[in-house]
Amino acid sequence: MSSSAPRKTIPIVPVPAEGGGEAVGLYQASKKIHPRSIQGVFARWRWALVFLTQLVFYGMPWIEWGERQLVLFDLAARRFYIFGLVLYPQDLIYLSGLLVISAMSLFLFTAVAGRLWCGYACPQTVYTEIFLWVEQKIEGNRSARIRLDADAMSLEKLVKKWFKHLVWIGIALWTGFTFVGYFTPIRELGMAFLQTHMGSWEVFWVFFYGFATYGNAGFMREQVCKYMCPYARFQSAMFDRDTLIVSYDPQRGEPRAPRRKDADPKRLALGDCIDCGLCVQVCPTGIDIRQGLQYECIGCGLCVDACDTVMRKMGYAPRLIRYDTQNGMEAGWSRRQLLRRVLRPRVLAYAAILALLVAGLLASLVVRTPLKVDVVRDRASLARIVEGGRLENVYRLQIMNATEAAHSYRIAAHGLDGLAVASDDRVTVGPAQSRWVAVRLQLPYGAAPAGSHPVHFDIREEGDSGVQVSEKAVFLVPR
Ligand code: SF4
Ligand code: SF4
Repeated sequence: MSSSAPRKTIPIVPVPAEGGGEAVGLYQASKKIHPRSIQGVFARWRWALVFLTQLVFYGMPWIEWGERQLVLFDLAARRFYIFGLVLYPQDLIYLSGLLVISAMSLFLFTAVAGRLWCGYACPQTVYTEIFLWVEQKIEGNRSARIRLDADAMSLEKLVKKWFKHLVWIGIALWTGFTFVGYFTPIRELGMAFLQTHMGSWEVFWVFFYGFATYGNAGFMREQVCKYMCPYARFQSAMFDRDTLIVSYDPQRGEPRAPRRKDADPKRLALGDCIDCGLCVQVCPTGIDIRQGLQYECIGCGLCVDACDTVMRKMGYAPRLIRYDTQNGMEAGWSRRQLLRRVLRPRVLAYAAILALLVAGLLASLVVRTPLKVDVVRDRASLARIVEGGRLENVYRLQIMNATEAAHSYRIAAHGLDGLAVASDDRVTVGPAQSRWVAVRLQLPYGAAPAGSHPVHFDIREEGDSGVQVSEKAVFLVPR
C-alpha cells in the first residue's frame, strides 16, 4: 500500500461518566423488579402455556403404559421407555435426532418470531410466572409488594414472607421430585419418600433440582435471562429485519406526554403515548420497550397487553406496542405484507430441513427392528476340536428385546459350508430385557482352510413377525 494513501480512523468520542464524572463500577447490584400483573391476550397465552407445559411435566410420570410409566429414563438399567418404545444405549441416534429437531425448531421459531420460546415456554419463564403468582396472592399487588419490601420488619411482614417462601419451597421440592421421577419409577420413589428410605442420589437430585427452581424462579428471575442464558446471547444471530419482535411504534407514539382523556392529541401536537409507564411496570425484565429492541426483552408481549389496555381507555387504536418486524414498522406494512415477508427463503429452508428431519425420525422409528444383538467372541475359549472331529468356536450373544412383551428367538448361522449352531438355538427374553447367551458354532474339520472366516448370526423372532437381525462375526480355523 502506498504510504501517501489516506488512513482510515475510527473516531473515539469520550463519554462523560454518569454521576458527574465519578467512576462507574463494572458491577452494578440488581434492583428488585416488582412486575405489575396485567390481563390481555398475550397474558392469557402465557398462562395457557404455563398450564400446558406443567400439566405435561408434572403429569406424565404418573401415567402408566403397560407395566411401567409412560416416560422413564432408567439410567441404572440403561433403558429409555418412551410411549411404549424401549430404547437401548445403541438407540442413542434417536435421542440425538430429537435434540437436532429441537434445535432446528428453535432456529425456525426464532427466525419467524424472535424469542417466542423465552417469553412463553422456557422453564425459567414458566416457574417465574408461577412464583410471581404465589407472591402476588400472599403479598398483594405491585404497590403492596413494593411497600412491604420497603417497610421495616414487622409480624405481618414476617408471616407473609415466611408463608411465601414455604409455598415456594413446596413447589420447588415437588418440581425436584417430579424431575427425579423421570429417571426412577415415580410411584416407587413416592413410597420410598413416605417410608423415608429414598436413596442418597435421589435425595441429592430432588434437593438440587428443587434448590435450582427455588433460586432461579424466586430470586434470580430476569437475571438468568440477562446474564446466564446462552440462548439470549446468540439468538440475535438468528434475527433479521423481517423477524417478528415486540416493538413500540415511535412514529405513532412520539412525542409522548400525559394528557386528559378528552384532549385531542392532534391539537396538542402529541403522539399516542401518554407516558403512563404501564408498559415498563408490567415488564418482567424491567426494561422500557420505547427505547427500542433490547437484548433483555424476552418477547413475552405483556407490554402489548398493558399498552392496549391504556389505548382502549383513551379511545385510541390498539397496538401502539405490537409484534411487528423492523421492515414492517418502518414501511407501515399491513398484516398480509408482513406475513409474506415472514415466510422468506431462510424461514422456508429451516422449515424444509425441520420437516425432513421429523419425517426421517418418524420413518426410522416405524421401520426400526425391536430387537438388538451384540456378538462378542468368547476370549476364554479359542477354536478347538470337539467330539466327532468338529471344529468349534464359542461366542457370547447379547439379545435385547426392545418391546414390552416377552419373545422367543431362533439363532442360526451361515457363511461357511456345514456351519451349524451346536448349542441351544432358542432363547426367550422377557419384556424390555436383555440376555447374554453362549453360542457354539461347529464346522466339520477340514471344511475350511486355516485363517479367519466371516460368518453371520441370524436371530429371528418366533412367529410371523418378520423381526430378524443379522450380525457379523469371525470363525477361526487354526493351522
Ligand atoms: S419489553 Fe415487553 S415483550 Fe419485552 S420482556 Fe418487557 S414486557 Fe415482555
Ligand atoms: S403503556 Fe403505552 S401509553 Fe403507556 S407509556 Fe407505555 S407505550 Fe406509552
